[in-house]
Parts: sequence; C-alpha cells; structure tokens
Amino acid sequence: MTAFKALGLDEQLLQAITDMGFETPSEVQEEAIPLLLDEDRDLVALAQTGTGKTAAFGFPMLQKIDVESRTTQGLILSPTRELCMQITNEMKAYGKYKKGLNVVAIYGGASITDQARNIKKGAQVIVATPGRMKDMISRRMIDISKIQYCVLDEADEMLNMGFYEDITEILSHSPEEKSTWLFSATMPKEVSTIAKKFMHDPLEVTVGSKNVGSENVEHEYFIVSGRDRYPALKRLADANPDIFSVVFCRTKRDTQKVAEQLIADGYSAGAIHGDLSQNQRDIVMKQFRNRQIQMLVATDVAARGIDVDDITHVINYQLPDEIETYTHRSGRTGRAGKNGISMVIVTKSEVRKIKGLEKKLQKAFTKKDVPSGMEICE
Ligand code: ADP
Ligand code: MG
Repeated sequence: MTAFKALGLDEQLLQAITDMGFETPSEVQEEAIPLLLDEDRDLVALAQTGTGKTAAFGFPMLQKIDVESRTTQGLILSPTRELCMQITNEMKAYGKYKKGLNVVAIYGGASITDQARNIKKGAQVIVATPGRMKDMISRRMIDISKIQYCVLDEADEMLNMGFYEDITEILSHSPEEKSTWLFSATMPKEVSTIAKKFMHDPLEVTVGSKNVGSENVEHEYFIVSGRDRYPALKRLADANPDIFSVVFCRTKRDTQKVAEQLIADGYSAGAIHGDLSQNQRDIVMKQFRNRQIQMLVATDVAARGIDVDDITHVINYQLPDEIETYTHRSGRTGRAGKNGISMVIVTKSEVRKIKGLEKKLQKAFTKKDVPSGMEICE
C-alpha cells in the first residue's frame, strides 16, 4: 500500500486499490505510473501478459482527468469486445471513489443508440474497439476533439487484427496535443511503425525481455496421432478434475465442434468465437467467470486479452502459426503471481514447432504422455 502511495497516487485511488486487495505494484506499474503522473508525455510500455498493464495506464489516467467536467478526456482503444468490457469494469473499480466519473464502453454487436445515449450523458473516459469507435465518430455520435490521453492497449493484437486503418482514422479526429500511451506484450515491426507514426519522442518502459512468456507458466506437450486429438483432450480433462481452462482451436468451426463434443460427452464446456452473437458470447463469458463452466473453448480472436482469475490450464488443441499468438494464449494462465500450465497437443509432424517455441520463449517444454485410462482410474 505504501508502495502505491510512493508512486504518487491520490487518496481516492489508494482507497480503491485497498478495496481490490492489491498490495504492491507490479513492475510495469512501478515504472510507468510515476512517469505518466509526472509529465504529459507519450509512452511505449512493453510487458508480458498478466503483469497489470491495465492499472499501469488506468490509475494515471483517472488521476489526471477532471471528473467535474463532462468532456471526454481519455480514450482507450482495445482489440476485442470482451477486453473492452473488462477494461471498462476495471476502470470503474479503480475510479469508484471519483465522484461523477463516467466510463463508457463502445463496441460492436450491441445497440449503437444505447451507446450513443451513454456518451451523451458525458463520459470522461471511453473504452472502445476500433471498428465501432470509427463508426460512431463518423456518425458524429462521439467527439474526441478534446481528449488529452489516448491509450493503445494490446497494440500488437490490434494491429494483428487489421485495425491499423481504423486507428489512423480515429486518431485523425483527436487533437495534436495529447499524450499517447501504447501498451503491448510484444513489439513486432508493425508496433514500432505505429509508435513512430503517432508518437513524439516517447518514454519507454520494458519489463522482462521481448516475446518471453510469463515466468509462472510451465509448458507441456503431448504427441498424438491426428485423429487422437479429441480423445487426448478428454483424457487431459479427466486427469485434472479441477481443471479451469481455456482450450484454443484454430478455427471457429473447430471451436464450435470441440465444445459441442465435450458437452455431449458430459464435460462442463462452452464455446466462444466470432460466429456467435454478442449476447451468446456474453452469456458464455459470464458462465466461465462464475465457474459454471470449466472449459472455455475459444478462437484466438475471441479470447484475446481475457483476464479471468485462476485459470489452471491453457490447452492448445491446435498450435497457432505465430509465436506471439502462443505467448498470448499461455498468458491466460499464470497471472497475478499464480502458477499455470500451458499444454500443447501436437502430432509427430508438429514436434519441430515445439523446438521453435522453446527457442523463441527461452523455455523448456516438457514432453509428457497422455494419461492412459488406467492412470485416471487410480
Ligand atoms: P495485462 O493487461 O498486463 O495482461 P491485467 O491488467 O489484465 O494484465 O492484470 C492481470 C491481473 O492482475 C488482473 O486480474 C489484475 O486485477 C491483477 N493485478 C493487477 N495489478 C495488480 C497488483 N498490483 N497486485 C495484485 N494484482 C494485480
Ligand atoms: Mg491487458
């Protein structure tokens, strides 16, 4: 607590931090918060997933904005709807003692008129996905001409998802004199490009080395024949009855299929992917958060950045193409100092990909056998 105070945070934020039970600032918070509070400068912060980046930009933004004014002063762009809702909830929790604070979430798949109405009431902070934000700006439902702080959260993911042009368009409606804070887990070329384009002489904070996954995650792999992927998944679930897991598939179709099969086989599972309605996605996310389902089967896009406490296992039902995607997947577990396991189901021909991951992540992966029926009975 005193450690948070030493960063220069005000009483209302300190009170909320106590309520949330945060005891000491994480490394990225410790480095970024004083810099951001101290002067209005641009900043690029790189830190692996699960290191508390939301608070690293959220606390300073809330301290700096004027809650007595109803003008929109802060904008946070984030890649997915789920993440957008999650950040909004966190910002509300951090700012619960800031009387008059209004944080509004803007994302696709939900009523635009409702969102426009919320904005009209006067939102000091808007948390948005790029697509819907651009749309609402062009329809003059949102005015960002007075913003002072703009966060590009999970910048690597936003660019991966093809939001470069939307971001450019959105920022063209914002004032030249503002501070831009870019947060990212990884720093691919695209992120450096956007940093150069939108930022002036940014401060830099780097925690841990680039592209390295969380310290608290153990990586395991299981070699199976292609048709044994699904039985292997079931065995892994059987061998870990208390599993609370995200199972990643490569396509929406596989995601749906695997979830349906699991449910049919009596497992506690649900699917989340882009072909489901926002309402369906919200219901599944809520069930998962409340631990009514144990296995959330997801595409990378749908599960990006999701922060659910105490996920025990990430299961890579299929490996992704990009190392960065693997880093993001495995970063769903081992968060906030807890331990987690990232399991990869691979076929023989994919084993060389494991070698590539080990090299890039600078971590050894443990080869394990799929638990046999016997072991499970014991
Ligand atoms: P990131 O954006 O870096 O992936 P998040 O901001 O989502 O990480 O934070 C990960 C988790 O850690 C969240 O559940 C958050 O509430 C928790 N957390 C953040 N900062 C602290 C802290 N200083 N002490 C304890 N828990 C924290
Ligand atoms: Mg984040």
